Amino acid sequence: MKLTSPVGIVPKIGPKYKKLLENLEIRTVQDLVYHFPFRYEDYSNVKHIRKLLENETATVKGIVESVTNIFTRNGKRLTKVAVSNGTEKIDLIFFNQHYLKTTIKTGHEYTVSGKVGTFDRKLSFISPELEESREVNLNTGRLVPVYPETYGVTSKWLRARINDVVSGEIELEEFLPENTLNKLNLSNFSWALNQIHFPDIEINAQKAKIRFQFEELFLELLKVEKRRVQWESKLKSVVMTVKNTQIDSFIRTLPFKLTNSQEKAINEVLKDQTLEHPMNRLLEGDVGTGKTLVALIAAYNTHLNGFKTLYMAPTEILATQHYETFTRLLSPLGVKIALITGSVKPDGTDFDILIGTHALIYSKEKFKNVELVVIDEQHRFGVEQRGKILEMANDGTVPHLLAMTATPIPRTLALTIYGDLSISVLDTHPNKERKISTKVIPENARDKAYQWIRQRNEPTFIVCPLIEESETPSFENVKAAEAEYALLKKTYFKGIEMGLLHGKMKPKEKEDVIEKFRKGKIKVLVSTPVIEVGIDVPEATVMVIESAERYGLASLHQLRGRVGRGSEKGYCFAFLSTYSRNAYTRLKNLETTDNGIELSEIDMQARGQGDIFGASQHGFKRFKIADMFNVKMLEEAKQEAQQIYPFLDYYPLLKERLTQEAGEYIPNN
Ligand code: ADP
Ligand code: MG
Repeated sequence: MKLTSPVGIVPKIGPKYKKLLENLEIRTVQDLVYHFPFRYEDYSNVKHIRKLLENETATVKGIVESVTNIFTRNGKRLTKVAVSNGTEKIDLIFFNQHYLKTTIKTGHEYTVSGKVGTFDRKLSFISPELEESREVNLNTGRLVPVYPETYGVTSKWLRARINDVVSGEIELEEFLPENTLNKLNLSNFSWALNQIHFPDIEINAQKAKIRFQFEELFLELLKVEKRRVQWESKLKSVVMTVKNTQIDSFIRTLPFKLTNSQEKAINEVLKDQTLEHPMNRLLEGDVGTGKTLVALIAAYNTHLNGFKTLYMAPTEILATQHYETFTRLLSPLGVKIALITGSVKPDGTDFDILIGTHALIYSKEKFKNVELVVIDEQHRFGVEQRGKILEMANDGTVPHLLAMTATPIPRTLALTIYGDLSISVLDTHPNKERKISTKVIPENARDKAYQWIRQRNEPTFIVCPLIEESETPSFENVKAAEAEYALLKKTYFKGIEMGLLHGKMKPKEKEDVIEKFRKGKIKVLVSTPVIEVGIDVPEATVMVIESAERYGLASLHQLRGRVGRGSEKGYCFAFLSTYSRNAYTRLKNLETTDNGIELSEIDMQARGQGDIFGASQHGFKRFKIADMFNVKMLEEAKQEAQQIYPFLDYYPLLKERLTQEAGEYIPNN
């Protein structure tokens, strides 16, 4: 067995579990052992039965004397397990688990961990963990890891499988440079892997975690080095000129004046196109700051120079929207716009600007003469895609790359992680009066808020609680949205036309729902949180966000940016489902601040406080364990990566690991 082997090679992982584990993105042995616990249950408090105190969490050992199934008078099914150490006795109480009678062996010694409560006025363990005493117990009597789970895969099951691997099935050879480990006082691979799952003491878990956090940043930054070196060495792009006359006259036909920051960004982008070196620029700007227009002008200039553009949006709906915008603005000028989605194929390669989803870049088709690639609403700044773009090179020239994001990223952070990136910022909203009034609504005011919304009877978005952080449509999130939809339909919005939108729907179904919403046939649209980042329904004026405390402020700011985009004022209600003073104070910032970057800085200070979207919403690669706001570690990792990268050949194991990690990001459309 090797770390790179498929996970099915691990004993007791058959086809069924293999499939289930895919839900946790576990495909290889390495994925399994890098499935880190997110907390530990502390069962290390081992006591004598007679010394147990009510309400404490503790562990005892003893022989099971009897297992009795009981039906109580009010119809409950209990199981009472009597455990004794010879002189003292305690009962374990379980509910609705009569099968325990057949699995627990009387006369055997068990270790029991859990909370001490009372039952029948006697101290008892209520629903504790228990397992037969062994030399090493995994589920009791120690710090016990708790993992992200999925349907059919419990932490208990994961503990056993992971333990089999890390405790000997496999050779865990160190692959980080010894020098680096020593210099930064990091623990070695084998020790860290054992201790992060099954720590002897709390500090060991901490120390192990630090090693893996560093490892993740370090590997990422080595990849950055690689891309930087690739991008900077010998890469050539076509040299374009700026077609000022045509561009100016196009801009004059627009029904509005460009904002100053749009003008600046357009100049920066066009200037990049005149260089021999391919552009690698990130355009950052709040929702509604007019990023599309910047890209559109770059694409127009590319066309005027005789070249083609690929424009990629995150979803088919957005691709279609952009297709309409581009067609409206540019086809009168003789520019051929084409759309490619799952359902629409372009007519050959007869286009000047081809619009599609992010999957476009993976298409087998080799598009000739493409010299500008735009990636819209890009969570990863074209990082993974850059490799692909290199492959698209025509006759030795690499297309210019413009990536766009609405996520406010502190500039210094972006520059540390991607040293080779240029950044343009759109920081002015075209529509200055654009105001969204936001209210944080505690649970007890929810009724009133919903009544107000019902009375207004305006197009309303309801964003459901984020149950599971996931970039792909998650089953849990969909379930939550369906439940919310059903509930609201019966209660507050009885008799009002409602729609449901989630990531597991077919593109056609989604389009239908959105179209109905836009036309006013649907008044209330219930949606999962991660869906359709850039959706543009100008008529929508009310946004309800359930369990708002689970999001970062920057994420909430993006969500509320969906409403009040037309002529009407927008309203945002941030519902608080579990009240905490901290959460309330933090959310209150939304009522007073309308600046995305400011909000994201507040997020950074309050990080760790319930931002489920976390890093992925900050536009970075989603780290498994690393904390990218840990500036000190980030800098150390950067320094080490820069020093080691030129000598990578001297570190064969590290090099091998890096090659495996190069696995591509496959978009889900
Ligand atoms: P985003 O940055 O979120 O992608 P869009 O490019 O979709 O924003 O622009 C949002 C809306 O603002 C569009 O309807 C667009 O036509 C309009 N818009 C863009 N630039 C300006 C401007 N300078 N003045 C007024 N409206 C503008
Ligand atoms: Mg956009």
